[in-house]
Amino acid sequence: MSNSSHYQGLIERYRDRLPVTDKTPVVSLNEGDTPLIKLVNIPEQIGTSVEMYVKFDGQNPTGSFKDRGMTMAVSKAAEKGAKAIVCASTGNTSAAAAAYAARAGMTAFVLIPEGKIPMGKLAQAIAHGAVVLQIRGNFDDGMRLVKEVAGEAPVEIVNSVNPYRLQGQKTGAFEIVEALGRAPDYHCIPVGNAGNISGYWIGYSEACGHNTASCTLCNGECPYLENPLTTTRPIMVGYQASGAAPFLRGHPVEQPETLATAIRIGNPQSWNLAKAAVEESGGWFDEVTDQEILDTQSLLASKEGIFCEPASAVSVCGALRDIRSGKIPDGSLITCTVTGHGLKDTATAIEGRDPVQTVDAELASVKDAILRHL
Ligand SMILES: *Cc1c(COP(=O)(O)O)cnc(C)c1O
Repeated sequence: MSNSSHYQGLIERYRDRLPVTDKTPVVSLNEGDTPLIKLVNIPEQIGTSVEMYVKFDGQNPTGSFKDRGMTMAVSKAAEKGAKAIVCASTGNTSAAAAAYAARAGMTAFVLIPEGKIPMGKLAQAIAHGAVVLQIRGNFDDGMRLVKEVAGEAPVEIVNSVNPYRLQGQKTGAFEIVEALGRAPDYHCIPVGNAGNISGYWIGYSEACGHNTASCTLCNGECPYLENPLTTTRPIMVGYQASGAAPFLRGHPVEQPETLATAIRIGNPQSWNLAKAAVEESGGWFDEVTDQEILDTQSLLASKEGIFCEPASAVSVCGALRDIRSGKIPDGSLITCTVTGHGLKDTATAIEGRDPVQTVDAELASVKDAILRHL
């Protein structure tokens, strides 16, 4: 017996807008349907009248937006009869690939950069039974190797070069437009491999019935062409970490470096799609420093109760700077994708913060400690 109100993940939710058929075995962990949270304290603190929302995709099943793309990529791999999937990852793709492969009864091979992935993400890949290959190189080396090995072994690539990934990720835009009843004026997002900004742009374009060149799989048959959800598309703004900012440099970066490990990428695979999204929408790319990223991560956690990983704070970080400077005008409606959960990388969150206070197990000590803070 089926309960029609039971949310069953984004493929079932958006089945008529995704490249699936009755024959596609749906591999889902009920991803998607994540909260759109209005910021209440930070805008007031900086004295702006913008309306600002966080799309907290860290609340997906494995703690990042990668689940949106992975449910599609693994379902389509299963449809083809694949027994194994492979990806290069800075951590979150490997966590998602491992979980969805476990669900589908497949083997996941994940290539991670040596020593540069947070323990939470590594724990996920291991717990879900992935074969973890730590390579002596960075993400870009891993990406190159994955493309090479897929020609030599029976494995499906589930990085965002797999077009089904972006098809899943476009649903984030659908959910935002449905929640707001319109498209935002600005959509701000961190950019690493540049798949997510491309996916969102496909989603916003389809939601307003625009049949863009980037809408590769919809072939002009998207149901929103006839019944658009909205009439406008947002201005897309992509932010990168200064040490890993190829879109700002205008070319790939050889040795990307940032503590926001999820976007420590020098050679983005969706370069053209991301550039087109920004250009078509009249948006821009900008960069933020590691210190600004940490400050914003802390601000979101301490002022809004939203704990995200460093790479995820990049969207809010850049948006706040552009609001302060007036580049994003007062009165704007802004959405920021917050891509991953803070529990992924607890070491970075704690580093350099006030130490835990140790007190005697006595009423007097605990009371003293409390009163000192009031
Ligand atoms: C993957 C990831 C990004 C970057 O997304 P791209 O699609 O690679 O641009 C940002 N933040 C987090 C937490 C991620 O896992």
